[in-house]
Amino acid sequence: MSAPSHPDYEVVIGLETHVHMKTRTKLFCACELVYGDEPNHHTCPTCLALPGALPVLNEQAVDFALRAALATHCTVHPHSIFARKNYFYPDLPKGYQISQFEEPYCTGGFVEIETEDGPKKIRLTRIHMEEDAGKSVHDEGGGGSRVDLNRSGTPLMEIVTEPDLRSADEAEAYLKKLQSILRYLDVSEVDLEHGHFRCDVNVSLRRHGAEEYGTRAELKNLNSFKFIMEAIAAEIERQADVLDSGGTVQQCTLRYHPKTRTTSIMRRIERARAALPELPEAKRERFAAEYGLGERDVATLTAARPLADFFEAATREHGDGKAVSKWLLRDVTRVLNDRDLEFGDARVKFEPAALAKLIGLVDAGKLTASVAGDLLPEVVDGADPATLMAERGLEAVSDTGVLEEAVAAVLAENAAMVERIRGGEDKLLNALMGQVMKRTKGKADPGAVREILARKVTE
Ligand code: ADP
Ligand code: ZN
Ligand code: MG
Repeated sequence: MSAPSHPDYEVVIGLETHVHMKTRTKLFCACELVYGDEPNHHTCPTCLALPGALPVLNEQAVDFALRAALATHCTVHPHSIFARKNYFYPDLPKGYQISQFEEPYCTGGFVEIETEDGPKKIRLTRIHMEEDAGKSVHDEGGGGSRVDLNRSGTPLMEIVTEPDLRSADEAEAYLKKLQSILRYLDVSEVDLEHGHFRCDVNVSLRRHGAEEYGTRAELKNLNSFKFIMEAIAAEIERQADVLDSGGTVQQCTLRYHPKTRTTSIMRRIERARAALPELPEAKRERFAAEYGLGERDVATLTAARPLADFFEAATREHGDGKAVSKWLLRDVTRVLNDRDLEFGDARVKFEPAALAKLIGLVDAGKLTASVAGDLLPEVVDGADPATLMAERGLEAVSDTGVLEEAVAAVLAENAAMVERIRGGEDKLLNALMGQVMKRTKGKADPGAVREILARKVTE
């Protein structure tokens, strides 16, 4: 981190991080905060902005925000002001967001990170409280757009740093530190995947040794560490090119394109377009390119958005799109079909992370594919795969001693069959395999069993 991230320019970064607080209820009303429930089931006159409804500040939110302020060494102000920030969005029923502007509840702390040159303090400009908007849901079938106000009024903290970060690595170190502090304080799930932790990244360059900051560009709404790092690298390149060719950087809002690893300036119309969901055609192309899946699998996965979203979330957790797709399209689909359910139905409580975990246990050789398949219906119902495995002692058996014993027992019970195999009827080996698997309740590693069987039969 001590090395300059660009030979000619010093990189200057400031971060604005939005964090969902995990309070029981919303910031200004008593509606419960529930993630993933049926649309518009957690609303009331206040968060629907019905005339005459009055906001009442959530004490728990203030308490959580205070904890964050104290843990980051901020000065807490006994007096602070909430303000109306006007926007016109369909998912913002009041027509304004309640936020803090001139007098936030706290200012001036720091978060310490480790760098190669030792610890470094990243100064915080402020933390303020604000409420989140609702969510627009666009029907890709052309059936129009609808608004879900379950999220409307969710308490957020916005944590703003001074432009103290000097590289993408420092930005990452800061965000990870912040994440760990907030987790430790138990005030947020701090989960990027679910949008509990979103980040605007401000980047500028200046000549080494220069005193004044350069003009910054702002990368909006990045929601994964990988994209944050890549976007910063791409933006450094872009600005350096502009400066190298004698140009000046314009202050602007940018978006990041993961596929080409480039950033581009958002014009007004583009900003509106960027807010649209990805349309099916584009999604199909991207799935084929990004995950290397076959045409038929891509078509099935992208046919409906809830399944596509689940696939992507599980793949982010697990890493291998092909493995996730195989499990989803074969096993998970069968479980859901059996129950007349599909993704997108509020009754489906299945989390992408749970599928990723289950596949991970198979990858690690802890569960056999067959046992994992047996557990799947319960995992789909919300059970944790690792807990099920531990509670029921299902961990795969690869202990050769145990396997040898099981094979020996099966061979002793099937002397006649063993004779026939020795006589050339190789296929009967499968029947014996089946019996060993049954004996070990499907927990035996099939490869190891086959090897031992083949050896013992010919002994
Ligand atoms: P806005 O709310 O319009 O984005 P702020 O003044 O609140 O503007 O600044 C937002 C963020 O931009 C802060 O995190 C700050 O550290 C960062 N920032 C300000 N100037 C620069 C700069 N020249 N280079 C990089 N980051 C900057
Ligand atoms: Zn409400
Ligand atoms: Mg900003």
